Amino acid sequence: MVEEQLAPRGIHQQATLDAMATVPRELFVEDAMQARAYGDHPLPIGGGQTISQPYIVALMTQALELKGHERVLEIGTGSGYQAAILSKICERVYTIERLDSLLGKARKLFDRLHYYNIVSRIDDGTSGWPDEAPFDAILVTAGGPKIPEPLVEQLADPGRLVIPVGNQEVQDLQLVTKIEGEVQVSTIEQVRFVSLVGEHGWQD
Ligand code: SAH
Repeated sequence: MVEEQLAPRGIHQQATLDAMATVPRELFVEDAMQARAYGDHPLPIGGGQTISQPYIVALMTQALELKGHERVLEIGTGSGYQAAILSKICERVYTIERLDSLLGKARKLFDRLHYYNIVSRIDDGTSGWPDEAPFDAILVTAGGPKIPEPLVEQLADPGRLVIPVGNQEVQDLQLVTKIEGEVQVSTIEQVRFVSLVGEHGWQD
């Protein structure tokens, strides 16, 4: 996966490649999907949700430019795979999921794999996690109509936020940087994510 799908497409950051080579992706997909776990595509994880294609996980992780000391907020725990990748290359991961059934499974895996620097809760992540803010980096793994304002507020300075923004079919993967009080937005590439549903996302 690393040699065929990631390195040739411009994933060069060593920490990201190491994390992708270490976390057992097959444990984060349903039993019937295990043989396809490392394929170059997203897979269903139940509840109408998906675990992202490996390349997209790596692309989003790399864009955060983590050095190891950061506290990172993830919105959309899903299978827990992206949180597991982040946990290898930052100090602590705070991850929020709106669906109980998915978070229950992810938490069991975090325990089983001894990923003790991941904390998680059920909530609408579009409002962020005010009690633990600010975050050095924020990663949203569902697509919204706009960048939720609370997430920009809860981003540290300096800080980096990555989020798919667009319609419910296709989105621009946007990178928001905050440096010395100035917020800038740029587009990384086009992506297709499941919908970010919440107060500052799509309505149910
Ligand atoms: N990062 C996940 C990808 C999951 S797909 C992984 O590695 O597997 C996106 C997830 O975002 C879904 O599980 C969905 O339920 C969740 N989600 C959508 N809107 C949300 C919101 N407002 N708050 C928290 N989670 C949300």
